[in-house]
Formats: sequence, C-alpha cells, structure tokens
Amino acid sequence: MEPVDRRDFMKSVAGSAALAAFDAKPGVAQGSDSGPVFLATWTWGQSAVNRAAEVFKGGGSLLDAVEKGINVPESDPKVTTVGYGGYPNEEGIVELDAGIMDGTRHRAGCVYNLHMIKNPISVARLVLEKTRHTQMAGEGAFRLALKFGFQLEQLLTPESLQAWLKWKADPKHETFWVTTENHDTIGFVAADGKGHVVSGCSTSGLAWKVPGRVADSPIVGCGIYADDNVGAASATGDGDLMTNYCTSISIVHNMARGASPQDACVDLLQHMAKTDPRNKQAAVAVIAINNRGEIGAACMQKGFHLKYALWRNGEGKLLDAVEVY
Ligand code: ASP
Repeated sequence: MEPVDRRDFMKSVAGSAALAAFDAKPGVAQGSDSGPVFLATWTWGQSAVNRAAEVFKGGGSLLDAVEKGINVPESDPKVTTVGYGGYPNEEGIVELDAGIMDGTRHRAGCVYNLHMIKNPISVARLVLEKTRHTQMAGEGAFRLALKFGFQLEQLLTPESLQAWLKWKADPKHETFWVTTENHDTIGFVAADGKGHVVSGCSTSGLAWKVPGRVADSPIVGCGIYADDNVGAASATGDGDLMTNYCTSISIVHNMARGASPQDACVDLLQHMAKTDPRNKQAAVAVIAINNRGEIGAACMQKGFHLKYALWRNGEGKLLDAVEVY
C-alpha cells in the first residue's frame, strides 16, 4: 500500500469537507434572495453592469443579463479591445473571441476567431443554447451565426483602420512573432442573490496578433468559469500567459476550499509570481464572485491597474482593484 503523508491526508480530508460543505451552498438559505450582483472589468464595465441590471430587473435570466451587458461594449466603437471597433490582427482583420458559462447547468458556449459579427458573446450563447457543443471556431462559428440571423458587418471603424495603417507603416513596428502589448477585454461575473452564478468574457484579443491566435478569454476555466456550488470568475490581461494558469477555475476551486473571492484572486496572482518571479511585472487581473454575492478583484501590479464596475443594491460604481505587487 502507498504510504500516506499525514498532512496531505488531513489536507485532502479538509478539502473534501469544504467541497462537500459547498455542495450544500452555505449562506444561500432555501428561498432567500440577497439581490443580484454584477461585476465587470474596466471602465466600460460600468455601462455593461447597468445594462445587465436593467435586463435582470425586466425579467431576463442571469444569462440574458450577462449577455446583454457584454453586448454594450461589444457594440461601442470607442472600446477598441472588444467587438465592433476592436483592433484587428496583423493582417487588418478583426478576430473576436467570447465565452459564457452557466453555473447551474455547468455548461458553457464559446466562440473563437469569429469574423464580421460584432456580438460574439451572443454567438457563444447560441452555441450554449442551440447546439450540444461547447466550443466553435472560425468558419463554423460564423456560419452558425448567419444561420441564426446575425448580420454580417465590417468591424473595422475608420479609427481602428487608421490605427492599423499607422502600425503597419512603422518600419520598426513590433509584432507578436516576438512580443508586444496592446489588449483588454470585458470580463463579467454575476450572481442572482439566490445561489446562481454566470461568467462571461468577450475580446478582440491583442491588437496586431498573429492571425488565428486564441488566448484565455473564451476558454472554459481560463477567461470564464461558473459553478453554482461555489461561484464564478473571469480574467483580463496577457492571455498568452494566463491561459497557462487556468486562472478562473483555479480561483473558483480555491473558493470551494473556503477562500473568500478576494483572497482567492490574490492567491492566484501570488501563485503566478511564485512559479515565475517575472510574472510580478505581468499584465494580469482577475475578478470573482461567490454564490452569496461576495466579490473579489485583484491585479498583479500598478502598471496594469484594474478599474472594475460593481452593480449592487440598485447602484453601479467604478472601483479600484487591489494591486498585489
Ligand atoms: N486576455 C485577453 C487576451 O489575451 C486580452 C485582455 O484581457 O487584455 O486576448
């Protein structure tokens, strides 16, 4: 028989007990309702959480609220890292990624490399609701969207085209064949006050990326993760890095072991720095919510300071995430 280390055994017993306890959804008494909470990354998260609250108050589901909330920055040409007006890849083509996960069904819908459709989160929702698949990429995702009546649109705006032409014309321009930085996203987590959580994320990824590149945002466990037994998480920042840490599932599993959403966010960033101290300078930020509506938000360092939007008790506000290093 394998020798069992007593401390490991105790840890695993404690872990199983914590997971079992979360199965009982602590703090979410049957029939109780602490009201919905919406949390989204960056300043444009503000209009997203406000819209989500409107949809939810109007009788929409939590999934409807997150989808319609994310549609706002996706459709806003001034947000150059999401949807319409998002900066293109190095060939001047806008490629969008998005994912949405339902914590009750423990199922997600995700799209990668979607062209010419400005609301990829709604196509991700279609994947979730209308297919038995979880992830669809490129041409197939595009055809699914057309089949369900999505409009084909030019996603380059005069401003994003100018930005791309300027980058292209610079003989010293950096490319992602080596390294460069220019990105953001909208990450969104929500709780309905009765124990149900949802996570969603939508991005145009890195500006001038190598065509076909997909990072963390639309991937289950990375940019999105939701489990009604525990909570939900999302992420923004250097997705080529964060994908390797499965950020969202790591945070949710940490909450399942008893961590608060805030401690779970900080713990993940500290873990990233522990595995490679260079990560202390990385552009990484995360948000989380548990099934009781408690929230957490953290960024690695002040050079990538995360402002995030919170909607709770009828009010939306913009807050500053904790900087870990
Ligand atoms: N994580 C996104 C990506 O790497 C970008 C961001 O959130 O800043 O595609």
